[in-house]
Amino acid sequence: MSQTDLARPVLQLRNVTRVHGHGPSEVHALRGVDLAVHPGEFVAVMGPSGSGKSTLLTLAGGLDRPSGGEVLVEGVELGGLSRTGLAAVRRRSVGYVFQDYNLIPALTAAENIALPRELDGTSGRTARREALAALTELGIAELADRFPEEMSGGQQQRVAIARALVGDRRLVLADEPTGALDSATGEAVLAVLRARCDAGAAAMMVTHEPRHAVWADRVVFLRDGRIVDESIGRDAETLLLLSSRNGAGR
Ligand code: ADP
Ligand code: MG
Repeated sequence: MSQTDLARPVLQLRNVTRVHGHGPSEVHALRGVDLAVHPGEFVAVMGPSGSGKSTLLTLAGGLDRPSGGEVLVEGVELGGLSRTGLAAVRRRSVGYVFQDYNLIPALTAAENIALPRELDGTSGRTARREALAALTELGIAELADRFPEEMSGGQQQRVAIARALVGDRRLVLADEPTGALDSATGEAVLAVLRARCDAGAAAMMVTHEPRHAVWADRVVFLRDGRIVDESIGRDAETLLLLSSRNGAGR
């Protein structure tokens, strides 16, 4: 990594708004969000249901376009990209863990993980090797040849996380990635995300659990589409207090 890479945020949101619908049914999901996530940084996003957390993540990952403002990934403004250009950024730079996993039912765990790499030109053999390494990192190597319907929710969730981490993507976005996991497995997944950031990636994770947010360097609290509070992570008591003050905890 060069000095410029270290200084430049992996993700930058500038005055980002997102309005759904028109007229009386308008919903302001995000109202002018400014946020930068730097290499090595792990940011947790907390906030009550409907506060705009998932919207923030989909915009950051280029899965949706803002109504106003700019989203930059590795310095590239997503609004200026064509559909294919945007798809390439999503495959190469962004790992996305969906709240409902979004695995392809007709593909095995290893095939689900390998697919975006193969679409990007990696050979089938290499992509499979990478997929097996990612499954091993998440402690589920034995699930490689199982189809989604043959796995529990928690197992599918870990496959979805492996898919987001493969290929050394610089930006990992995860929407409640520990929702279906027991607490020991959840902590193990957070340790994997933490290690990925310590190795230079940037991550943003939505969570309802203050005890999971302690893994982050920084916690951002959303309410009604705005960032209303921010805290440096790793202090469980402060996070508990802030999440209850901001209506964010369970
Ligand atoms: P969170 O993830 O914090 O629960 P969301 O980002 O999903 O919140 O939603 C923020 C607001 O935007 C909510 O009021 C939600 O109903 C609304 N919203 C989200 N997606 C859509 C959509 N596709 N159409 C209309 N309203 C939406
Ligand atoms: Mg959500």
